[in-house]
Amino acid sequence: MPECKPSWKEIPESAHKSKRVDFMPYKFSFDLSKIPKAFFRELANITNEKALHRKLGGQARHLAEKFRIQELTGLEVSDALMLVEDLFDIYIRNISETQEFHKTRKRVLLLPHCARKYMDNRCQASFDPEIPSYSCAHCSENCLINKATILAEKNNCDVFILAGSSCIPKILKRNGYEGVVGVACSHELKMGGDFLQYLGVTGQAIPLTKNGCANTKFNLATVKRVLISA
Ligand code: SF4
Repeated sequence: MPECKPSWKEIPESAHKSKRVDFMPYKFSFDLSKIPKAFFRELANITNEKALHRKLGGQARHLAEKFRIQELTGLEVSDALMLVEDLFDIYIRNISETQEFHKTRKRVLLLPHCARKYMDNRCQASFDPEIPSYSCAHCSENCLINKATILAEKNNCDVFILAGSSCIPKILKRNGYEGVVGVACSHELKMGGDFLQYLGVTGQAIPLTKNGCANTKFNLATVKRVLISA
C-alpha cells in the first residue's frame, strides 16, 4: 500500500512549531540567473576550504545516533548521512574546479568496468594488463560504456575503463592529462579528488547512480555536459 501523506493544508496547525507554515520564509518567485556565477564559485570555495559541509554532516550523524533513527526505522541512517556528506564533498569540489577544468584541453575520461553491459566474455573489450585497463570494442550499442566512450572520442578525450583506482597515477603520469573526468562510486571519487588535488590536476567527478559490482549506472547526460564544457 502506498503511504498516504497529508498535504500541508491537512496538517493541523497545532502540529507545527511555527504559525506561519503556509508561508515561505522568503519570496517564492525570484531569479537567480542575475547573480554572477563567481558568487556561487566563491561560496563553494569557502565551504570547501572551511569544510563547513563536513561539520554539518557530522552534526547530522550525531543527531541520528542520539535519536536512534536506525533502530526506530530500520534504515541505515548513518550510512545514508555519510553518503550525503561524500556527495556534498564531490559536488562542492566540482563547482570549485569548474573554471580550471574549462581551461583544459588534454582530457581523460575514467570509467568503471562494472558499468559494462556484459561482465563476461560477451564483452569484446580488449584488456591491457600493462595499465591495467579495458578499451571498448563497441560490441553492444546500448552498453553505457560504449555510449560514454563514443561521446568522449567525439570530444577529443581519451578513455580508460578501469577495474580499480590504483592505476590512475600511472595513467596520469604517462600521458600528462590536464583535466580528468572520473565516473565511480562516491567513496572512490572522494579519494580520487584528494589525489588530484595533491597532484595539482583539475577534475570533475560523476558519481554512480547505481552502485554495486556489476550493472552499475551513471548519468550519460552529465558525462556529455562535462565533456562538451570548454
Ligand atoms: S560495448 Fe564495449 S564495454 Fe560494452 S560490452 Fe561491448 S566491448 Fe564491452
